[in-house]
Amino acid sequence: MKCFCCDGRFENKEMVHLDTKNYCRPCAIGLFGDLAKKAPPIPDETNLKRFESHTKVFFALISGFWFFIFLYDLVTGVSAKIRTKYSSGKGKNESR
Ligand SMILES: [Zn+2]
Repeated sequence: MKCFCCDGRFENKEMVHLDTKNYCRPCAIGLFGDLAKKAPPIPDETNLKRFESHTKVFFALISGFWFFIFLYDLVTGVSAKIRTKYSSGKGKNESR
């Protein structure tokens, strides 16, 4: 992440978000003083992205699983319907 003040590149944990801009800690303390010391560090973006991708995979797996269940239910339901239709038709034919 880039510092708005000195244009240096820093790790997220060394950065402070103040006044809608990101500053490195030395710049922030120089500009804002105690306010920068109290400001919470920016959360690690890579961890956040990793978490996001994990949840995406998790939801994809769950939705895929439910889709499979739905398909299975659909196929078994249709085959059961066909079977009952066939057997009832057969029964009608036999009664005649
Ligand atoms: Zn700086």
